[in-house]
Amino acid sequence: MKLTTAVACAFLILGSCRTTSTRVAPGALERPPFDAVFTGGTLRVDCHHVGNAKEEHFAVALVRAEGAWPGSRTQLVDESDMGLYRFEVRALADGRVLYSRGYCSIFGEWQSTAAAKSGWGSFEESQRFPEPRTPVDLVWHKRRDDGSWTEVARASVDPASRFVDRAPLATDAEVIPVFEHGAPATKVDLLVVADGYPAGERAKFEEVARGLIDVMFATEPFRRRRGDFNVRLLYTPAAESGLSNPRKNAWRQSRFGLSFNSFDVDRYVLAMHDRELREACAQAPYDALILLCNERKYGGGGIYNLWATATADSEAAPYLFVHEFGHSFAGLADEYYSSTVAYEELTPPGTEPWEPNATALLDPKQLKWRDLVAPGTALPTAWNKAQYDADDLVYQAKRKALIDAQASEDENEKLMREVKQTSSAFLKAEPNYGKVGAFEGAAYLSRGLYRPEVDCIMFTRNPTSFCKVCERAVERTIDGFAR
Ligand SMILES: [Zn+2]
Repeated sequence: MKLTTAVACAFLILGSCRTTSTRVAPGALERPPFDAVFTGGTLRVDCHHVGNAKEEHFAVALVRAEGAWPGSRTQLVDESDMGLYRFEVRALADGRVLYSRGYCSIFGEWQSTAAAKSGWGSFEESQRFPEPRTPVDLVWHKRRDDGSWTEVARASVDPASRFVDRAPLATDAEVIPVFEHGAPATKVDLLVVADGYPAGERAKFEEVARGLIDVMFATEPFRRRRGDFNVRLLYTPAAESGLSNPRKNAWRQSRFGLSFNSFDVDRYVLAMHDRELREACAQAPYDALILLCNERKYGGGGIYNLWATATADSEAAPYLFVHEFGHSFAGLADEYYSSTVAYEELTPPGTEPWEPNATALLDPKQLKWRDLVAPGTALPTAWNKAQYDADDLVYQAKRKALIDAQASEDENEKLMREVKQTSSAFLKAEPNYGKVGAFEGAAYLSRGLYRPEVDCIMFTRNPTSFCKVCERAVERTIDGFAR
C-alpha cells in the first residue's frame, strides 16, 4: 500500500519540532566495525503513533531488549531512500547515523483516509535496531510531497539505563525451520507467523505455509536467490479458528489484532496489536514477517518494512502471498488503479512517487527504470487502456455487488476466475506485452502515474511473476540483507 500525504506540520511529544528539511546524507562518514558500536543484541522501541489528517505525534511506550541482532552487520544505514518515514539511530555524542531504515506505517496510511479528517487515530508502531554500546538519539523523519525529509520526533535512549526492559522473552511459540542457509546476519530471515490456527489446526498451518513458501520460491527473483534466505514458521495456538469479519458480524480473538475490513475496506487485513506481535516474534530471528491467516475469504495487506498479511485458504492465496510480500519487503506500489481503496490523498500532481515501480514520468529522460527500457520504446508507452478500463468498470461493479450482498467465497472466486481469463488474454495480446516502458495507470491513479509493464503481479492476479522493474527491486532488497 502506498500513499503520499501533505504534512502541514509535524508535532511531537519528544524533542523539538523542526520545520527545515533534514535531507539525510548517510554513508558520508567512515564507519567503525559493528562490534565497536553495537553489543550484538537487538533493541526495540514501541511507540504510540497518534494524530489526525493534519498533525501527528510519536510517544515512546517501551524500550525493549530482544535477542541477538538478526540483521546485516555491514549494511546498517539505509541508502535506498524509500518509505514514507525514516527511522535513524544517531550517536548522542556526535550525531553520527549508526543505523537507519525507511518504512511505512499503519498511521501513515490511515492519515490519508476520510476518518483522519474527522477524528484522531492511535496506532501501535515499533522499530528494531542493533543495540548500541553508548547513548543514542532515535530520530523519526517524514517524507514531504517533494521527496525531502522533515524530522517529526526524537527521543534519547541510554542502553545501559534501567529504562530498557530486559525481562525474559516469551517462550510459548514453536519455531519451525523450513530451510536455513546460514547465519542470520548474512541472510534474509523470513518468518511466517500463524494467525487463527487453534492447536487442532497446527498441522494445517504448517502444510499451507510450506506450500505458499514453495510458490514464492518458484517466483523470480526468490527462486534464484533462495540460498540467501532462512525461512521459518512461528506457531502459537489461537483461541479460535479464523479471522474477524466485521461486515458479517463475525468476531474472533486474535492475539495480534488481525481482522478483515481494516480502514473499512472489505478485503484489507491489518495487525493492530504490534507489541504482542513483536513479543511473540522475538522468539525467532527475523528480518521480514508474513502473517498467514486461517481463512478462506480473500484478503491481505502489505506495508513497507512492517509485515505482509494474507489469507491462506483463498483460491488466490499464492498471488496474495507474493503480492503482499512485494509491498512489505521491497516497498513496491500497487500498480492497479481501479480497486476500492480507503486513501483520499493520493500522489499529488507533479510529484514523483518514491516506490521503485511507479512514476509520474515528469521527465522521461530521467525515468528511474530507463536502463531497462529497450531503445526506441516510446514513453509513455501505448496500451489499450480505454478498452481495459471499460471491461474493468464492469468487473468492479460486479465485485462491489457481491461484497454488498455478502456473497459466498465460491461466488467471489468464480468472478475472479472469469476476470483472470478475460483480462489475461486481453493484456497478453497487447503489442507491448512483456516490454518495459511506462504504461499509464498505476498506484491508484488512472491518469498521471505510470507502471513499468502492461502486466505484473503488482497489477493483476493474472501473472505469476513480477515485471522486470519489480523483480529488480526485490533483488536489491535481498542484497541489503544478504551480504
Ligand atoms: Zn511490477
